[in-house]
Amino acid sequence: MKHVLEIESLTVTFRTENGEVTPVEDVGFAVQPGEIVCIVGESGSGKSVTSLAILNLLGRSGRIGQGQIRLDGRSLTELTEAELRKARGKEAAMIFQEPMTALNPVLTIGDQLREAIRLHVGLRGKAANDYAAGLLRDAGIARPESVLKQYPHALSGGMRQRVVIAMAIAGKPKLLIADEPTTALDVTVQAQILALLKRLRAQHDTAILLITHDLGVVAEMADRVLVMYAGQIVEETDVFSLFERPLHPYTKGLMAAVPAIADELEHRLEAIPGSVPDLARLPAGCRFHPRCPAATDRCRSETPPLTQSGSGHLVRCWLTGHNPAS
Ligand code: SF4
Ligand code: MG
Repeated sequence: MKHVLEIESLTVTFRTENGEVTPVEDVGFAVQPGEIVCIVGESGSGKSVTSLAILNLLGRSGRIGQGQIRLDGRSLTELTEAELRKARGKEAAMIFQEPMTALNPVLTIGDQLREAIRLHVGLRGKAANDYAAGLLRDAGIARPESVLKQYPHALSGGMRQRVVIAMAIAGKPKLLIADEPTTALDVTVQAQILALLKRLRAQHDTAILLITHDLGVVAEMADRVLVMYAGQIVEETDVFSLFERPLHPYTKGLMAAVPAIADELEHRLEAIPGSVPDLARLPAGCRFHPRCPAATDRCRSETPPLTQSGSGHLVRCWLTGHNPAS
């Protein structure tokens, strides 16, 4: 099957006051049409940077050091800036945690949606307005005509995120990239937005790359999951295997940090001790070793590769990756 997105050995570097750092190192994965892939990890794991690299939104200090990104078979690095602008919204569109980053506070929702429609669909005037109303309806907004006349500040956070999603789907992109799209919303609205994303996937076969730190969101949404730690993928598998048989000690730690609903009241959150390492001073060997309860001498000096452990299950750990029986 043709992939919507293919990333091969992607490395991203950033210039900082303390020299160059590498928030993403040798990351590779693919997303198929209609598939929901979640990237999960703590903040600082490189999941957001990976998602920004896809549409070349790294800003001035960041750059793709090496690797390949192909959107619908076309290499991103071969696109001109103009082609890239077209690809944003048409082939892939991005949704951020805070909807106001995508909305202009001084323009009405209608103005902004019609502009996106002019750009990606080529419609103007009444046709653009009707199309805009249709998009808002698709995004679950019951009275689109009144919302079109409003300014972003007049809407609730959940409504703003629906508007952003409507704008993102204007060009019927094959891939939606959503970075913590529900983190700023309350639980009920969060569930509605996740349901909306699932419905869009079902209706249009839109692939979704969903960045989250929330394993509840992963369980609800993902077909496949990438776990990132300190700039690297440490585990990749389908969502069932991830919850049934997590292999990487970091993944196990994340799982343990989530209370099972049934014993929620009896069990305290068991967070993983320590924190994500400073990118400017990454530990030698396995990057997780300072926090890993299973670390050995080898882990402190040799970097484990990402290896197969069972069909489609990849893990970066000396213990599990090379000895699935253990
Ligand atoms: Fe822990 Fe070693 Fe596996 Fe790293 S390689 S996760 S330190 S056991
Ligand atoms: Mg982030």
